[in-house]
Parts: sequence; C-alpha cells; structure tokens
Amino acid sequence: MQNIVLFGPPGAGKGTQSKMLIKERNLIHLSTGDLLRSEKEAGTELGLKAKVLMDQGKLVPDEVVIGMIRNKLESNKDANGFIFDGFPRTEKQAEALDQLLEELNTSISGMIALEAEDEELIKRLLERGKDSGRADDQNREVIENRLKVYQNETAVLKSYYQKQNKFTSINGLGSLDEVFNRLNAAIG
Ligand code: ADP
Repeated sequence: MQNIVLFGPPGAGKGTQSKMLIKERNLIHLSTGDLLRSEKEAGTELGLKAKVLMDQGKLVPDEVVIGMIRNKLESNKDANGFIFDGFPRTEKQAEALDQLLEELNTSISGMIALEAEDEELIKRLLERGKDSGRADDQNREVIENRLKVYQNETAVLKSYYQKQNKFTSINGLGSLDEVFNRLNAAIG
C-alpha cells in the first residue's frame, strides 16, 4: 500500500492536490475535514458537536477523528493505499494512525508538507469562503485561529515524521500543475 500524509496549514492546497493524486494513483482520499462536514450536513450528534468547534477554528477531539479514520480503514482493507488530508493533526493522532496501519500490516510511506506564507493562506481562504459556504473560511479571526492552532499543535508532526525519515517539504506556491509536479517528484 502507498500511504501518504499530505500535510500543511489550512489553505495550502491539500484538498485540491489530494483529488489530483487519487485519480492518478488509484488511492483513497481520507479527509477528516470532509468527513466531519458530511456528519454536520447529515445533522448527526457528532456533526452538531463538531460544528461548534470547527466554526471557531478549534480542533475536534482526537478520539472523534481517530474513530472516523479507523472506520474508513477497516472498510477499505483492499485499497491500493490512502492519502491522508488534514489528519493527523496532533501527536496523539499520528501515533494512533501508525497503530491502525500496523494492524493492516502496512505503514506510512511518507509525509509531504505543502508550504506557504500566512498572508497567502489568509487570502486563499477568504477567497474560497466566498463560494465554499464554509463559515470557518469567511471570518479572518477564525482563519487566524486555525493558523495558530496549526503552528502550536500540528506543525510539530514534521519532526515526528522526520525522525522516521519520512518527511519532505515542497513549495505550495504556483499553479495547480506546478505544485502537482513537485508533489509527484517528491513521492516518486
Ligand atoms: P483546513 O485544512 O482548511 O483547515 P479541514 O477541512 O482540514 O480544513 O478542517 C476543518 C476543521 O475541521 C478544522 O479547523 C477542525 O475544526 C476540524 N478538523 C479536521 N480535521 C481534524 C483533525 N484531524 N483533528 C481535529 N480536528 C479536525
């Protein structure tokens, strides 16, 4: 299995690049943000609880997202591999992911971080907010909070994967195809 963690701050382009990658490599896209938004739209209890946190730009509890990923992995045991987008976001999530993959006799192949400056990210997210309908993309303070959460809680995962020799960083600026080419070169 080829299992890639697509990493980076909000607005770095993880979702867009994930969609391009799964097509080319026949992988399954697992985005915890998308999964949480589906729960929210379906009006489930989990979705309603998550909404409050998401709309403030705060993280949803680890157990919730780990449980969602566990379900998806268990129901796709025969996949070619997975692209993890927006997960893991904390060390606890990264450890849980390693363990879940071990149960499937596989592991993370690599983590690739898309890098971009905060000002560019804020601009992209506000632009996306115009038609995404996402409340968390429409308010500058919420966006800044998400960037802060990324710096404080998530960015440390770079060293988690670096220690395992699985970390690569690429420039997230440029056209979709330029970034996609860099990504493919990094994955090999
Ligand atoms: P972005 O990367 O643009 O912030 P996501 O769709 O990945 O968008 O995440 C949106 C929101 O969903 C986050 O701000 C957070 O509230 C919640 N969320 C998504 N993934 C996770 C996760 N792995 N752990 C905790 N919360 C998450």
